[in-house]
Amino acid sequence: MTMNVLSYAAQSAKAPLAPYRIVRRDARPDDLVIDILYCGICHSDLHKVNNDWRNTNFPVVPGHEIVGRVVSHGSNVSRFRDGDLVGVGCIVDSCRVCPECRAGHEMFCEKGVTFSFDSLEQDKKTWTYGGYSTSMVVDERYVLRIPKGLDLERAAPLLCAGITTYSPLRQFGCKAGDQVAVVGLGGLGHLAVKLAASMGADVTVFSTSRGKEEDAARLGAKRFVATREPGALDALAGKFDLTIDTVSATHDLNKEITLLRNFGTLILVGAPPAPTPLEAFALIFGDKRIAGSNIGGIPETQEMLDYCGKHGVTADVEMIKMQDINKAYERMLRNDVKYRFVIDVASLKG
Ligand code: NAP
Ligand code: ZN
Ligand code: ZN
Repeated sequence: MTMNVLSYAAQSAKAPLAPYRIVRRDARPDDLVIDILYCGICHSDLHKVNNDWRNTNFPVVPGHEIVGRVVSHGSNVSRFRDGDLVGVGCIVDSCRVCPECRAGHEMFCEKGVTFSFDSLEQDKKTWTYGGYSTSMVVDERYVLRIPKGLDLERAAPLLCAGITTYSPLRQFGCKAGDQVAVVGLGGLGHLAVKLAASMGADVTVFSTSRGKEEDAARLGAKRFVATREPGALDALAGKFDLTIDTVSATHDLNKEITLLRNFGTLILVGAPPAPTPLEAFALIFGDKRIAGSNIGGIPETQEMLDYCGKHGVTADVEMIKMQDINKAYERMLRNDVKYRFVIDVASLKG
């Protein structure tokens, strides 16, 4: 029996999210049926609802930072049992055989990855719906284990914000003593600070919100720079080995480049709606690099969760009811999140 499931959806660009019924497929032999407990709210959910990237297929049910409990499973399932606490992140399927899938980079599947929402299933005709819903059916290959000891609601944001910041820190070799700058102290930014600090880096936060200074220190940053204050950046030219830019809105990158040391790298993970001009000389003088990083594959996501289990890294969260989602989006647009909203999905069931 296919399941008719309650969710929250936006029916058109910028429309408020409201209750909506969706159908989840019958469990196939490799599938887990997951009762969703918590779902983090990523700024990508908001970009999608607002059609900021001009590629949203409506109605859209966002949500890709999902923690839940396995309630039933198909006959081939071998890695999980009913009752297990599990995570589902951004990726729910891919072709599994192309070189990228084989390398564990499913997000770059050559046949087209299936993301957990607003994405086509591998049949290339069925749209996926995300975690703002009571349950989900996912192939066990794309399901993550949540390490024991982590609070589930605080672990949910690791499934996107965690992997999106862990992956570039690893890929670009973040190590003890490195000077790491994190631009934007939101959901991704605050996990970037915690993760880089846990790797021994000396972390500086660049923020437009002076009110976040104390939090930055508590999260593990050594320095806080209020970027909108005159002269704030003057003493920092040429300082950083790595800068992770998590900003969700279009902004000037050239200043950030001047703050890199020679051969330093600026990594863009924030995905603003519009492009921004780049000054070639800002890169040329100092052999500086600019790179992007897209979430992380399934094996690396499990590695990140295990790392967070070992080092006790989780998100700072504010729990909300599903019914308060539109208010949460408004606050997110005002940079008023400390530091991730997480939906208590029980509020949708009750
Ligand atoms: P978020 O919680 O809203 O944080 C974004 C932060 O950016 C804000 O808290 C604010 O920090 C800063 N900011 C906002 N507007 C700004 C402006 N005009 N100028 C300078 N700074 C500004 O969002 P998030 O969930 O962390 O996501 C951040 C971005 O990453 C989004 O664009 C999202 O779509 C993208 N993302 C990318 C990937 C990937 O795979 N690459 C994965 C997930 C998300 P301050 O108050 O400290 O200034
Ligand atoms: Zn996300
Ligand atoms: Zn593939």
